[in-house]
Amino acid sequence: MAVIFNTTVRCPYPTCGHTGDVITNNHCRTAHKMERKELFGEFGKPQGIGYDPTAVNKNLERHTPVQRLNNGYPSNSPYAKDRRTARNKGW
Ligand SMILES: [Zn+2]
Repeated sequence: MAVIFNTTVRCPYPTCGHTGDVITNNHCRTAHKMERKELFGEFGKPQGIGYDPTAVNKNLERHTPVQRLNNGYPSNSPYAKDRRTARNKGW
């Protein structure tokens, strides 16, 4: 039996990638300088992130072709964020 954790959500802000049990109003204010309801209205409600491999695969099947059309790589992935951070540090 696979256990699916539906309590973790990802911030809908495109370049954010923040995850947590809930996207707090405090996060929206400090990270994006906007109210949570504004952010959700602009970018949509945060998506739940499951760790069930079957669900992940289904998501990839559905979303990967669209992502490939829009951008070369997922810019909000932890890897991309690490690369940006490294650049900012002068690597
Ligand atoms: Zn955010």
